[in-house]
Amino acid sequence: MATIAFIGLGNMGGGMAANLAKAGHAVRAFDLSAEALDRADEAGCGRAASAAEAIAGADAVVTMLPAGQHVASVYENDVFGNAAPGTLLIDCSTIDVATARSNAAAAVEQGLVAVDAPVSGGIAAANAGTLTFMVGGSDDGFARAEPILSAMGKAVIHAGDSGAGQAAKICNNMILGATMVATCEALAMARKLGLDPQSFYDIASVSSGQSWSLTSYCPLPGVGPQSPADNGYQGGFAAALMLKDLRLAMEAAESVGANVPMGTRARELYEDYVANDDGHHDFSGIIETL
Ligand code: NAD
Repeated sequence: MATIAFIGLGNMGGGMAANLAKAGHAVRAFDLSAEALDRADEAGCGRAASAAEAIAGADAVVTMLPAGQHVASVYENDVFGNAAPGTLLIDCSTIDVATARSNAAAAVEQGLVAVDAPVSGGIAAANAGTLTFMVGGSDDGFARAEPILSAMGKAVIHAGDSGAGQAAKICNNMILGATMVATCEALAMARKLGLDPQSFYDIASVSSGQSWSLTSYCPLPGVGPQSPADNGYQGGFAAALMLKDLRLAMEAAESVGANVPMGTRARELYEDYVANDDGHHDFSGIIETL
């Protein structure tokens, strides 16, 4: 079992750190929020007074932070200089590919090993330990990260070199954003054409219109499995986070000259939805605008 510094104990990181502790790892938790630290403490993690204290002497440092600038700043100010040579850095945050690559390069210069390991699955999967991790980094980094990530997820997949995990994550979520919008508009149109929502669901879910957005996360209340639609679009995956991922996808597409018309339109629609809502509703709530 390893000694693991865990930085960022928010909606996702709180449950993930708790699962590492449950698996028997010695977790040293740190967050800027005292409330998040209290929850981690109750979940069996050791409480660190600072990021530096959590990191000193740890075998691995896991970060689960809002965005690229937070990760770069924690690496620069807290990790480098405090982590012992050879320490494994695992960043599970969703951040831009360029920052993931530059963080990994800076880590190598410091004699550390870094992987990017963003997740698929929301807060429920983080709490249940059923996340999917997509990992970018060296074979050695992946081999060392795999047993740690397995304690927090149901699947851990090596996507390629540094940044490949983030690339896989934003490509996956670009599919998700576009299919959710397509599913919502088809469900809304079916209703206007006089189709019973349940009948159309029964047909599309066993036909070529089937997708995860339809059959695992149906945006209509009362149809399909239990989803945020049945709870007034509360909880789930916030539209603001979907917009964040679509913006990252557009940035990445531009950097390599990829043509992404559907992703671009999904980004525009989520920009409007978040601007006219507060961004906290689940991303499937966009059906109410269609
Ligand atoms: P969150 O805002 O709930 O948690 C982030 C935590 O980081 C907060 O507790 C904050 O206090 C802490 N933090 C910020 N800067 C810090 C610093 N310098 N030192 C220590 N702590 C610091 O966010 P979240 O929902 O847990 O998401 C985390 C990451 O996971 C994001 O990159 C997000 O895109 C990604 N993600 C989220 C979901 C989801 O459903 N929430 C799903 C998949 C991926």
